[in-house]
Amino acid sequence: MKKVAVFFLVLVVLAVSLWSVSCARSFQFFGKIISRVETADKVVALTFDDGPWNPKYTQSVINTLGSLNVKATFFLNGRGIESNTDSAQALVSAGHQIGNHTYSHNRMMFKGLSEVKREIDSTNELIRSIGFEGDIYFRPPYGKKLIVLPYYLEQQGIVSVTWDVEPESYDGINESSSAIAEYVIGNTKPGSIVLLHVLGGNNKKARDSLPLIINGLRSKGFKFVTVAELLSGNT
Ligand SMILES: [Zn+2]
Repeated sequence: MKKVAVFFLVLVVLAVSLWSVSCARSFQFFGKIISRVETADKVVALTFDDGPWNPKYTQSVINTLGSLNVKATFFLNGRGIESNTDSAQALVSAGHQIGNHTYSHNRMMFKGLSEVKREIDSTNELIRSIGFEGDIYFRPPYGKKLIVLPYYLEQQGIVSVTWDVEPESYDGINESSSAIAEYVIGNTKPGSIVLLHVLGGNNKKARDSLPLIINGLRSKGFKFVTVAELLSGNT
């Protein structure tokens, strides 16, 4: 009886540990994962996940960033690029960085190698097809990864990029543009990576927070860079 209890305790501890690893923003079993860069320079990368969907929202974000002279990084889904190719191309033409956020935006923790490979490779091909030429970084959907996904990414030499500032994850903050902006301005450190969702029909508050965030962080001396610029250290 005692042995059975110990066995179950070990199983529970193992499950909790694996769960923590699957959610960790700056650790994975294989390959490089980055949630923030250690630097004294006041630089920050704005990153936007998912989509693209309706072109009018993408165009609105392109206009906002363009008018404020900010280059950002968009982790897009292959499915979104395929169904809204013109929007995805417009992001590339506007000079933004494009990253891989899988084809179908499923949780990738327990997927087999062939499915992982399909999700990553098809999306990388689509990113090349819209004319993006830089290194392609990867961001796991829901920040979730465990063994096969990081293993495949390491084989391919693809770096995973998470984030250290995520305003939309808190109910009280997600309710208004000004609260989102206030949170980002208050929590951004030199070298931070900010996660927002701005391309969807439901993302109006985050979209409207962009000018507030950009002006607020600029007034604190921050400069906006892409993830590639942040990681290269040439900022
Ligand atoms: Zn996502």
